[in-house]
Order: sequence, then C-alpha cells, then structure tokens
Amino acid sequence: MIFGTDLGRRYELRDSSTVIGRSSKCGICIDQESISRSHVKIDKVGRTVRLQSLGSSNGTYVNDEPVEEYLLRDGDLIKIGRTILKFLSAGNIENSYHDEMYQRASERRFCENGPCVGVLDPDGKCPICGAFADTQVPSVKG
Ligand SMILES: [Zn+2]
Repeated sequence: MIFGTDLGRRYELRDSSTVIGRSSKCGICIDQESISRSHVKIDKVGRTVRLQSLGSSNGTYVNDEPVEEYLLRDGDLIKIGRTILKFLSAGNIENSYHDEMYQRASERRFCENGPCVGVLDPDGKCPICGAFADTQVPSVKG
C-alpha cells in the first residue's frame, strides 16, 4: 500500500498501523502547521485498509468529504491540512509504472562527449550531439 503526495513522494505502509502527523514520532511525518501532531491513523486489517481521524480540529477529508472513519479504496484522495495524499493499493498499475520509471532513471547513461550532458537513448545515442556511447571520439594530437 502506497501513498504518494502531489510532490511525487511515496510512502509505503509497511506496518499494520501507521500514524500520519506533524510529530517526528509518526510513521509518516508531514511537517505542516495545518496538520496535527497525530492527525490520522491508517490500519491494515487483512486486505482492507482503514483510515481513522484522530480528532484533529482541521479534520480529515477523503475525496472532499469529511470523514471520521473510512475504508480506503484504490485512488482515494486523502486531504489532511493542506496536503493531499493519494492512496494506491498494492499492485496498482500506477505503482508499477513508478517502479519502472525509477528503474529506468537509475539505468540511464550520460553522454561521454566532453561537456555534453545529454541522456543517452536506449540505443546509446545522444539526442543532443548525436554521439554514440560506444563510439570512440577521435583523438587529436597536437
Ligand atoms: Zn552528447
């Protein structure tokens, strides 16, 4: 089970119970004034994921509806304070998309042609200067 914020950050719900809040003791700490020290609790019960508001004065919203207790479904938008978290269930397509993108990002190779900062395409060709990674750049002797 994954949360992603609008900032593109992801939080994985590893424990059976996770508290989200401003306190650094929370499983997911979001340091924002509009969020209570302990704002909301997420419990994994079997295959269901239950959200429980911890009585924050600013409230907890799911898909723009105020909630006290709510069973999360894939794609739900949870709003606490000014932060919106998107709930993605395990195995969600968007998750595998993210994983694939992360993998690609870690595999990317940069152009070796001097100061060029091009990111090579899968064929090893630089889209900026057109050099191939495995091609030797001719050396010039002075
Ligand atoms: Zn290049």
